[in-house]
Amino acid sequence: MADVVVIGAGVAGIQAALDLADHEVHVHLIEREPTIGGHMAQLDKTFPTNDCSMCILSPKMVEVARHRNVTIHTCSEVESVEGEAGNFTVRVKKHPRYVIESECNGCGDCTRICPVEVYNRFDAGIGVRKAIYKPHAQAVPDIVVKDQEHCIECGLCYDACGKEAILHEDEERVFEISAASIVVTTGYATFDARNKKQLRYLAIPDVITSLEFERMINASGPTGGKLKRLSNGRPPRSIAFVQCVGSRDLAAGRPYCSGVCCMYAMKNAMLVREKNPDIEVTIFYNDIRAYGKGYEEYYERARNLGVRFVRGFPGEVLEENDRLMMVAENTETREVETFYPDLVVLSVGLEPADGGEVIARMLGIPRDDSGFFGVADQKVGPVLTVKPGIYVAGTAVAPKDIPDSVATGEAAAMRAFLDAIRVG
Ligand code: SF4
Ligand code: SF4
Repeated sequence: MADVVVIGAGVAGIQAALDLADHEVHVHLIEREPTIGGHMAQLDKTFPTNDCSMCILSPKMVEVARHRNVTIHTCSEVESVEGEAGNFTVRVKKHPRYVIESECNGCGDCTRICPVEVYNRFDAGIGVRKAIYKPHAQAVPDIVVKDQEHCIECGLCYDACGKEAILHEDEERVFEISAASIVVTTGYATFDARNKKQLRYLAIPDVITSLEFERMINASGPTGGKLKRLSNGRPPRSIAFVQCVGSRDLAAGRPYCSGVCCMYAMKNAMLVREKNPDIEVTIFYNDIRAYGKGYEEYYERARNLGVRFVRGFPGEVLEENDRLMMVAENTETREVETFYPDLVVLSVGLEPADGGEVIARMLGIPRDDSGFFGVADQKVGPVLTVKPGIYVAGTAVAPKDIPDSVATGEAAAMRAFLDAIRVG
């Protein structure tokens, strides 16, 4: 049977690849990062069940990597696409890893000895990583990557590696894949909170994003799950979550609702209260959007755990005598209240992933006004594009929670499967 290309290996892409592979279709899963898994690998728990995110995702990552019908191409991006449904030629560029993939066993001896520490994107900037590193403990493939930009060529890792797997020189490789169809699951990026200057992200250390908070509260994250103020390392006594940062905001160019922020803020607020009942938690919101199965009950559970919900937004985050201060009008009581949180968590919205414009042009599919990929029919063709043989799923189409991302990944896989059997 003909092959299928899946672009983007977050949970939607992994699910699409697994479904196709289980139907005996060979899948090329293309991921630009050094590991598959996407954003879900960064999350601590998942709503509304509060299951550990990696406990769900990691077995799928391992299964897709071991599947005889899946070839994973990490550090890789699609460079061009030609042809039509049933007969696409996909040209892929593989960026240098500076490590022989077949030799590295992920032992980590090189990482331990490397003296260079740099910003760690996986830990959303809260932790650091080395210049030669594994993106995270459960990375797939379970091997390291050398960041040539920050490597100072001290030579220590080459001596430490018993497998002689590390390369001084490496180069880009380009190869072609013939495919019956293409599934696009390139995911999302988070809103850059610096664009809301009045919230003082990066100007005040105790103003952090929700993704940074996910890493902080995660037991395998950079603080070992300990909540702390980044200004002084002390545990916070009060935490404020500010909703809709980069969502439902015309001025920021983000008019749409990101769909998941109310729920993930409630989840994090509950995790705080469950583990630390002495910490005061307040969520500042526009309105609560708890639309999914079990979500309204989840909201009730948060309230019962003592999470305070204030309908209204602080205009700005201020510093007063070494502490944070926010003033907000509670639009339910019409009272103006002053808050002094130790930690402010900005619930950043979801926006199109970088590079979407290039992929859209390459594939000949439109994007909508928000920059997400457009579908042929939102009601009866939610994974179809205007181009036969090209399907879209997950948050590449619009903000979605994990169940919806997985469901659309499955739907796109079945459409691609039909193309593959048609070609034979
Ligand atoms: Fe271990 Fe060598 Fe791989 Fe580093 S490059 S993880 S030392 S095998
Ligand atoms: Fe780190 Fe580069 Fe030195 Fe290796 S050669 S230990 S990657 S700084």
